[in-house]
Amino acid sequence: MDTQFFVSRGWINLLYLIASILFIFGIKGLTHPRTAVRGNMLGATGMLLAIVATFLAKGLAFPYVFAALVLGSLIGAIAALRVPMTAMPEMVAIFNGFGGAASTLVAGAVFLKFGASLAMQPIVATAASGLIGTVTLTGSLIAYGKLAEKIGSGAVHFPAQQVLNVIIAILAFACAVWVVTAPDNPNAYYALCAAAAVLGVLLTIPIGGADMPVVIALLNSYSGLAAAATGFVLDNNVLIIAGSLVGASGLILTSIMCKAMNRSLAHVLFGKLGPTADTASADEVYAGKVKATSAEEVALLFDGARRAVFVPGYGMAVAQAQHVVRDLGNVLESRGCQVEYAVHPVAGRMPGHMNVLLAEADVPYDQLVEMDAINPTMATVDVCMVIGANDVVNPDAREDPNSPIAGMPIIDVDKARTVVVVKRSLSPGFAGIPNPLFAMDNTLMLFGDGKKAIQELVAELKEA
Ligand code: NDP
Repeated sequence: MDTQFFVSRGWINLLYLIASILFIFGIKGLTHPRTAVRGNMLGATGMLLAIVATFLAKGLAFPYVFAALVLGSLIGAIAALRVPMTAMPEMVAIFNGFGGAASTLVAGAVFLKFGASLAMQPIVATAASGLIGTVTLTGSLIAYGKLAEKIGSGAVHFPAQQVLNVIIAILAFACAVWVVTAPDNPNAYYALCAAAAVLGVLLTIPIGGADMPVVIALLNSYSGLAAAATGFVLDNNVLIIAGSLVGASGLILTSIMCKAMNRSLAHVLFGKLGPTADTASADEVYAGKVKATSAEEVALLFDGARRAVFVPGYGMAVAQAQHVVRDLGNVLESRGCQVEYAVHPVAGRMPGHMNVLLAEADVPYDQLVEMDAINPTMATVDVCMVIGANDVVNPDAREDPNSPIAGMPIIDVDKARTVVVVKRSLSPGFAGIPNPLFAMDNTLMLFGDGKKAIQELVAELKEA
């Protein structure tokens, strides 16, 4: 397929090159909260440039393209404005899926129109795009369903599951070979998409509980690979580069997430995670051992504290308590208490979730301490306040080799002198398992909505 442009191909490639450089500097900017906004702007400018350059192609159905552009921009803007921070991972999952779908549709359209006249390279790229794009679409829809709790967030297992997965994977590859060897037969592409759709579902349903961050990162990488393959179909350099950047950064993020959870990728994809028959019931763990406390009592505790550490989790995001937590930190600091915020890499529902919330509340960066740095010092913490975190502070991960989250690194809050856990009930976190921390001798439970409970505590401290 040879694309003609209103200006020379050399100019188009120069614009694409500048766009690609902007993408790379954009990603670099996103690596630190201080430069993230600028990084985002650079990436968006690169995308605008790439779109303008692409519009210089002759023969595009401009009215349709503009209609799609307006509609897509509207949906994107409304989603970005309305989706709360806590639902961002769901939005990322859906967007990954749409990226995969777009690659499948574009490659499919080229195949159906020009299939018979395509050379070997674009045909192979078409098969790759259809396969990876459709797996990304259906896998992302399942991930979305799990994260939004439209379907159970737990792992789904059934007998001979791995065998079925292998059979469907072989079928999908066979269809990909069919696409390559029969480029004039639309049925080959339809069959490939159908098999890949089933494969995407089958590969994602067994992954549950706390392993979802890895899946989101992996699907993100797949959507990039599908886009890069489509770039080869269209012979579009910027799509190849942008897709490869997404593919590579998604893989790096996947590896960071795996390390953060101390699991191998193979274990995440094929292992089992979630409550099992051996998992202790909530009654066994908590009955008669949980001590509830009040804002008044916690204020007294803080009175004598010289070092306090806050450990935020998903519940802080739900309660939008980050600003009041920062107020509490200010009050404690004004009384001469050393305040730090311990951040777990998979706390919340997306990589960097807690960093984003705490930055939004203007918590100074030097008070944010990563898990590995804070853990060796936990024994010297007078009061450790856990705000809406659960799985990331579950000592079973460290102590119980049979726990579904065994081996996942945690913040060792149980080693602090006193632990105060702020949450509404004894409900489990994302992994769906009880947390023995809540029943420990040095733990007090401050039951209530995160924001309300901390507001009451700040009021108590100010009164005292
Ligand atoms: P968890 O999901 O383990 O626990 C969150 C806790 O917050 C719940 O137990 C809940 O208890 C409490 N909570 C909910 N709403 C409120 C509220 N309004 N006020 C106070 N508390 C509230 O969160 P963690 O951050 O500890 O762990 C994250 C989990 O999510 C890990 O298992 C991780 O693997 C997984 N995950 C992480 C992703 C990432 O990229 N970071 C992506 C997807 C999943 P209660 O209902 O009793 O209030």
